[in-house]
Amino acid sequence: MEKNVVVIGGGPAGTTAAISARRYYPNASIKLIRQEEKVLIPCGIPYVVGTVRFLEKNLIPDTVLSKNNIELIVDEVTSINKEAKTISTITHNTISYDKLVLATGSSPLVPPLQGLDLDNVFVVKKEIEYLQKLLDALDKAKDVVVIGGGFIGLEFADECKKRGIQHVTIIELLHHCLLLACDEEICKRVEQKLKERDVNLLTDKKAESILGTKKVEHVQLKNGERVKADVVILGIGVVPNVELAEKAGLKVDKKAGVWVDDFMRTSDEGIFACGDCAEKRCYLSGTPVPIWLASVGTTEARIVGANLFTTRKRMECAIGIFSTCFGDLAVGSAGLTERRAKELNIDVVTSTITAPDKHPGGIPGAKELGVKLTFEKDTGLLIGGQVYGGSSVGELINFIGALIQHKMRADEIATFQMGTHPMLTASPIVYQIINAAEIASTRR
Ligand SMILES: Cc1cc2nc3c(=O)[nH]c(=O)nc-3n(C[C@H](O)[C@H](O)[C@H](O)COP(=O)(O)OP(=O)(O)OC[C@H]3O[C@@H](n4cnc5c(N)ncnc54)[C@H](O)[C@@H]3O)c2cc1C
Repeated sequence: MEKNVVVIGGGPAGTTAAISARRYYPNASIKLIRQEEKVLIPCGIPYVVGTVRFLEKNLIPDTVLSKNNIELIVDEVTSINKEAKTISTITHNTISYDKLVLATGSSPLVPPLQGLDLDNVFVVKKEIEYLQKLLDALDKAKDVVVIGGGFIGLEFADECKKRGIQHVTIIELLHHCLLLACDEEICKRVEQKLKERDVNLLTDKKAESILGTKKVEHVQLKNGERVKADVVILGIGVVPNVELAEKAGLKVDKKAGVWVDDFMRTSDEGIFACGDCAEKRCYLSGTPVPIWLASVGTTEARIVGANLFTTRKRMECAIGIFSTCFGDLAVGSAGLTERRAKELNIDVVTSTITAPDKHPGGIPGAKELGVKLTFEKDTGLLIGGQVYGGSSVGELINFIGALIQHKMRADEIATFQMGTHPMLTASPIVYQIINAAEIASTRR
């Protein structure tokens, strides 16, 4: 009998789940339903401001669906009847399924700030028309205020400078930007780089309200200061889209997402969930964690695709691996920071190694590459890593993520075999990950 799969959501998770389902179940009928005609690459949204410039150049091509024989339906799903195994859409279609995948994503977190309804105040929606209005407003702006110094806020701020905006200010509640993802010493490097790139940073500051008559004019801080603003961009986080699942009677936590087991099954055996709408659990404590990343969502989606009709793969909890860059400085983080580990009362040993990313260090284009590894003291288990340097950071942090996922210990990593090349890597003598692990293993 032909298997009938319906995926709700056309973002990174829904698209990947549909493609994986095709690979594992070549004869299945697969439909993907999404609200948008065209889907933006969400991680590329900040780069539309300065680097890419046009929203149309930042799209997930629909050919990834057509090439995989996935039927695309643009519509909004309004309800799920899990007993009848059907969904209803806004155009009054009823579609049946054998297996349903929820990949309904997330929406921007909107804080209870006065003045949010003023013109030129934007959150980061993944919608073309909405973002076009932001771009149009930026074209007339001299003063832009970004509220939130996480990676999305910083990327927007840096891109606003690239667009030629005169004054760009970031307002961050915590002591440093990026502090939820990186340890202080790495945050400081990023802050220094942003200052060099003429971004104004106001850390340890709380935005209290947004002021203006029709249009935004200022952001009022709790300390009484006012920051001039023609445009305000809020990038303070997201909330999972769980309404459909909740209405259908699935187990849901409004903040954490749709509950899933280790095989990405929801509380109903015919329904799976993945991506930002699905709950993530910390790989150490097993408790829910707010890790909303396309990288994690697509890993979950591949597990969903594999498990739809036969249980094949298990999700190893969410490690949370991220990277970003500002000019020639890239930073990445995987797993727990030293700070977070200490908050969780985990006794840690850390080691940081810095060396050129080519050898000899005088080779043209060589850059300083720093690796910090954090190990659990008792067991020597790698629980976190951070990297800063040039463009190799993006892949190096993924490698560290794999070491964490595979539960490697300091003494094992210290004797890891690596390949090195003068033009491509650090010298084998100073190779950062291995030296950091070797030193940490002697400190335990
Ligand atoms: C500016 C920005 C930068 C980011 N940068 C990075 C990065 O560098 N790296 C990274 O890993 N992550 C990044 N992220 C996070 C990443 O974008 C999200 O984790 C990712 O988009 C989640 O994918 P998703 O498919 O779960 O959900 P979404 O992308 O939110 O997609 C949800 C989909 O569900 C559909 N949908 C929802 N409800 C319905 C309904 N009722 N009926 C029909 N369709 C429905 C929507 O139409 C949409 O197609 C960034 C996010 C933003 C906003």
